[in-house]
Amino acid sequence: MKPIPYGKQFVTDTDIENVVEVLHSDWLTQGPKVGEFEKQFAEAVHAPFATAVSSGTAGLHLAVDGLLTPGKKVVTTPITFAATANSIVYCGGIPVFVDIDPATLCICPTSVRQALEENGSEIEGIIAVSFAGYPAPLGELREICDEYGLWLIEDACHAPGAWRLGEGNVKNYSGDCTLADVSVFSFHPVKHIAMGEGGAITTRHRKQYVRHQRKRSHGITANARSDEPWRYDIRDLGYNYRITDIQCTLGMSQLARLHENIAARQRIAATYTEELSQFVQCPQVPDNINHSYHLYVIQTDRRRELYDSLHSRNIRVQVHYVPTYCLTYYRQNGYRDTSCFEAEKYYSRCLSLPIFPTLTQNQQQFVVESIQEFFEA
Ligand SMILES: *Cc1c(COP(=O)(O)O)cnc(C)c1O
Repeated sequence: MKPIPYGKQFVTDTDIENVVEVLHSDWLTQGPKVGEFEKQFAEAVHAPFATAVSSGTAGLHLAVDGLLTPGKKVVTTPITFAATANSIVYCGGIPVFVDIDPATLCICPTSVRQALEENGSEIEGIIAVSFAGYPAPLGELREICDEYGLWLIEDACHAPGAWRLGEGNVKNYSGDCTLADVSVFSFHPVKHIAMGEGGAITTRHRKQYVRHQRKRSHGITANARSDEPWRYDIRDLGYNYRITDIQCTLGMSQLARLHENIAARQRIAATYTEELSQFVQCPQVPDNINHSYHLYVIQTDRRRELYDSLHSRNIRVQVHYVPTYCLTYYRQNGYRDTSCFEAEKYYSRCLSLPIFPTLTQNQQQFVVESIQEFFEA
């Protein structure tokens, strides 16, 4: 049997035709497709402004860059890809890792409050992660931010298309920035939209949007002087975090299938939950949550054995994630004694099962039966 990965891109013939077409056009980068993609993506996630960038990590860097005062602390979750905390360090900030809520696997608002009581005015902002596709508790976090005068970033790399029905039956979409100041997405092939590499920053603040657009391309402003029309200027330091027209064309082609693909992921998730709940801990998703299932994470005390057993059958399950503060860079740079109880308990028990739109029923049945056999043996 062919290996079954935990995640995989879905590129159609139409996607390929669209990319070939842009290759014949005048623009491979800095052309019209970038703005078109930004407009469509902003609409898809219900955000006022979007800036497309070269990766999710570049997006996080620019998002934090626009909000953080160097030297200040930022509260975040340890259960995420390392780029979340790295972006704070890039900008001269200090990550403060707080525990997750075991029910949502997102940052725990009570733990955030505790960190604020302990660190007081040194904390300037919060980066929450809508983990696996479960929207982070942005309403509660917004209240905390308003109380303490903090900014709020949603790392929505797992969560395009996710939403939460909040107070007054208002739908808060991941990345819409009604509660967060800025949100960030990734278009790495294992994420919902595959662009090779790619990312987007959304915001409701026009000033942040203008800054993201400028800093994505070196911080350049055009037409600095009317007497020298060729002149550009740089007033603050930016980067080359641009994305190509080739990637944005693929992105638009993929975006058209976002909801269809999420529905496919939700069907796969429902089957796993139905077939596996008696053996392992499956995700618990309340009715007011639309989970976009970038990952389907089970938990079991026999994680190591199950991991080995599934890999021996070429089912490439994965562990997401080692708590960020356990990585050597962080251990050696101030986090030697950091420990979050729920995060570590989760890390010792979690396993991401294969979930992607093209996973066939036969493949999923093989995964399900392999797990059932493992526990019944
Ligand atoms: C994938 C991911 C990123 C980084 O995105 P890239 O596009 O790979 O740079 C950041 N945060 C989270 C939670 C992610 O899953």
